[in-house]
Amino acid sequence: MSNLPTSYAERLAARARALSTACVHAGDERDPSTGTLDAPIVLSSAFGFASAREAAEAFRGEGDAYIYGRWGNPSVDALEAKLAALEGAEDACAAASGMAAITGAVLAVCEQGSHVVAPRSMYAESARLLRDRLPRWGITTTFVDATSADAYAEAITSTTRLIYVESPANPNLAITDVVAVAELAKARGLVTLADNTFATPFAATPLALGVDLVVHSVTKAIGGHGDAIGGAVCGRRADVARVRELVVKGLGAVLSPFAAFLIARGARTFALRQHAACKSAAELATRLAAHRRVARVHHPSLASHPGHAIADRQMHAFGSILSFEVEGEDGDGPASALARGRRVLDSVRTITQAVSLGDVKSLLVHPASTTHSTMPKGDRARAMISDGLLRLSVGVESVDDLWRDLEVALEAIP
Ligand code: PLP
Repeated sequence: MSNLPTSYAERLAARARALSTACVHAGDERDPSTGTLDAPIVLSSAFGFASAREAAEAFRGEGDAYIYGRWGNPSVDALEAKLAALEGAEDACAAASGMAAITGAVLAVCEQGSHVVAPRSMYAESARLLRDRLPRWGITTTFVDATSADAYAEAITSTTRLIYVESPANPNLAITDVVAVAELAKARGLVTLADNTFATPFAATPLALGVDLVVHSVTKAIGGHGDAIGGAVCGRRADVARVRELVVKGLGAVLSPFAAFLIARGARTFALRQHAACKSAAELATRLAAHRRVARVHHPSLASHPGHAIADRQMHAFGSILSFEVEGEDGDGPASALARGRRVLDSVRTITQAVSLGDVKSLLVHPASTTHSTMPKGDRARAMISDGLLRLSVGVESVDDLWRDLEVALEAIP
């Protein structure tokens, strides 16, 4: 029996209906010479010209002839058109990975001496970029409590150039009031950038909330099948052109045509997959919250989640990722939350133990013993990563099978 409120089920179905046709058709043009139904994979590194005149025109930026694979490729263009349609963006630029897209977007906006305001809980490699790598080039960052628009406002200095948001955030699903932060940035003439990987364009479209640039790891839910790494930056045409010039043409972080093909193929079922996964995530969040071994569940669908009301207002759906904390003692003894978290990870069978997220397969990680194991416990606590925290990226398996797997694993705790 489903615990899902009818109104949320209807909202998910409406979102799927709104996106499905664009998922299937956007960017996919039949090749008139062969009649292929979708854009074929074009593996040419350079493209021939019909004449010296055409070559000269192409180099002047006239016409739409392709020149060289790092400057443009039809398979990559087809994916970019699909991504722009999903995000409601004027344009999108694909990149070699999510990190290439993020690094490129930040560098395209900032210059030496620029200051960034970013959330304290965000994807770990993005935090490392801002905290440890970019200061070498004079770009510094203040990290703030993402749930407070006031904290963003207070951190702005005379050199601030970029406001970075990631909502829901990794791994506690903290929600930022994106409208408030974007308005604040606009009033101060600053650029806002949102990492929409966690939410996905099924659940949130930050450009419509006033954000300037959206970045993605399309490795995740948009590709959806765990077989290709890629990234993207979406936004206004002129802004995306600046990112493309730097990231793809200049730094060379180009997406391969084969990866573009795989990601575009996966994206055709994106709305169907997210419809199913968001539905199951809300269902599992409710069931987990009632389990005696679970101390806390973090998912914005729950009325108890501190960001529920904002998420309800600014998101199309509450997303397909949740985290939960198994109860247990401090320390690392057999009854500790740390040992119990590991035990759950070792006990699941249908759910796969793996990093990454947004896959057709449900993926479970225990950050305290894996991704964040080298982080001092105090820092982990500040980032809201308790010893018993597990992050579940819900896939498209039957929700009953997923629940049975979780229930058996939770009951296996001694
Ligand atoms: N942003 C978020 C929220 C992520 O979870 C990830 C990867 O896990 C990235 C960015 C980086 O993406 P990629 O691994 O494609 O470089």
